[in-house]
Amino acid sequence: MPIATRLALATALLCGAAAPAFAADPQPAATCPEGADWNMPAAPLHIHADTWYVGTCGLSAILITSPQGHVLIDGATEKAGAMIEANIRALGFRVEDVRIILNSHEHFDHAGGIAQLQRDSGATVLAMPAAATALEHGKGDRGDPQFLSIDAFPAIQNVKRLRDGEVVTLGPIRLTAHATPGHTPGATTWTWDSCQDGRCHHMVYADSLSAYTDDVYRYSDEAAHPGVLARFRQAIAAVAALPCDILLTPHPDASAMWKRLGPAATQPLVDEAACRRYGEAVTARLDKRLAQEKVAR
Ligand SMILES: [Zn+2]
Repeated sequence: MPIATRLALATALLCGAAAPAFAADPQPAATCPEGADWNMPAAPLHIHADTWYVGTCGLSAILITSPQGHVLIDGATEKAGAMIEANIRALGFRVEDVRIILNSHEHFDHAGGIAQLQRDSGATVLAMPAAATALEHGKGDRGDPQFLSIDAFPAIQNVKRLRDGEVVTLGPIRLTAHATPGHTPGATTWTWDSCQDGRCHHMVYADSLSAYTDDVYRYSDEAAHPGVLARFRQAIAAVAALPCDILLTPHPDASAMWKRLGPAATQPLVDEAACRRYGEAVTARLDKRLAQEKVAR
């Protein structure tokens, strides 16, 4: 299907003019509220050029398309797997044409649907070593700050290991993997250029950099996990400094995506300062967490 037809279809879906056959029930929302439930179905959206939103209202899944096949980043929850597939089809693409599946980080709310998506597409799943092991087990280890409190997810088979800085290619698509550990050991930020009619944007799918822990883990405990805090701060600084025109995040609310995307958008999608502001917000959260750990010592 030519891109213009796909755009028209996507626009029609947003306007409610078409009634696509979604597997998920209830009907997907054309306009997602902030703070939406993680499994609230969302209508798919065009982001820019080859890049589409196919996630739920509460959790992102990003599709990057090409004539040689597609790349999908993230599978949201186990329940959302079918919604993501329905969204891919509603845009006129084939799930079977997804050749590569990538992940932001190894938690059930971003990796839960990947096993089904891998099965139904036959795609290769690629991840950083720390994430890959957790993806294959369906759960992380004590290196995960939320290890004691986070749910498991369906295990994923045959995860290929990536190096920090490795470029994943498929036809014209080139995505760079940036190790951004801190929220989890395998946390990965993805960047690519998305071009249409000679207009290119630096796309950043910045992973969660939020300092959440279970009742036991302390970021300040250097003896238990040496270097983790320093690497976390490095990761935040690296994301803040990325060339960044369009910031996307695994949790849409973390970068106000529903204010910038879709029919109810009130703010520009392109914002070159977005990654820097994201870095400031997550640094404030980490500093707050460290202050709490000091008090609790
Ligand atoms: Zn997480």
